[in-house]
Amino acid sequence: MENDQRSRWARFRKSRIVKGIVAVILIWWLATVISEMQPHHEASYRAFCINNLAFIQDAKQKWALETKPPTNATPTWNDLKPYLGSGTNVVTMPTCPGGGVYTIGNLQTAPTCAVKDHVLE
Ligand SMILES: [Zn+2]
Repeated sequence: MENDQRSRWARFRKSRIVKGIVAVILIWWLATVISEMQPHHEASYRAFCINNLAFIQDAKQKWALETKPPTNATPTWNDLKPYLGSGTNVVTMPTCPGGGVYTIGNLQTAPTCAVKDHVLE
């Protein structure tokens, strides 16, 4: 009787049901880990992007100081190029790590990113 129960338990442990349950637990655990990592990523993307927007805004102001355009002028990437470099001639255009597209905007408005929440404060 006892022996019979034990062997049934052994068979149960080897069954596909147990493997299925283990797989479900593993998938659930993985999903939890990934979902916990996600907002973290988004937050660092956002911080990086806002830093870029501040950099673009700074370049716009330098451009305005130097070229004295009308106060509502809208600089192009080409206009900003000389002010986006870091001392050398190597110019790396700032890009959003979240894949957003930047709009420079005119001198009255802050540059914006197409990604929601990537807003210069
Ligand atoms: Zn962005």
